[in-house]
Amino acid sequence: MNYVKVVNSIEDPEPEGFLTSAGTQLALCCPDCGHGYSHVQAVYTLLGGDEGGTLYRGSHLVARETPYRRDALAVRVLGECGHRWDFVFQQHKGETFIRIDMLEPDKSGTVPKERVL
Ligand SMILES: [Zn+2]
Repeated sequence: MNYVKVVNSIEDPEPEGFLTSAGTQLALCCPDCGHGYSHVQAVYTLLGGDEGGTLYRGSHLVARETPYRRDALAVRVLGECGHRWDFVFQQHKGETFIRIDMLEPDKSGTVPKERVL
């Protein structure tokens, strides 16, 4: 997989910034433009510092680190709008923080095949 650059990190995302109503259920929406159609692509481990260093079960290692001491789990999402982002679940002193790392947009115009079947 090619390295994908983080262009903006949203440390304290408001729920209305990444959730939308889809009939009777909540659905993800693009944190950048609000578009309501998206696709989960992959799950990654972001390596932390001295208290990290192991992959979350079922995840890949992505060529990025998290600035925290513990590892983080990232769920990569591609919006049909062309934006892509990682939902990051960051362990920190017994709490799990959520942040959104906006990634450089996909310029290929196609949905990347990041899933392994
Ligand atoms: Zn978007």
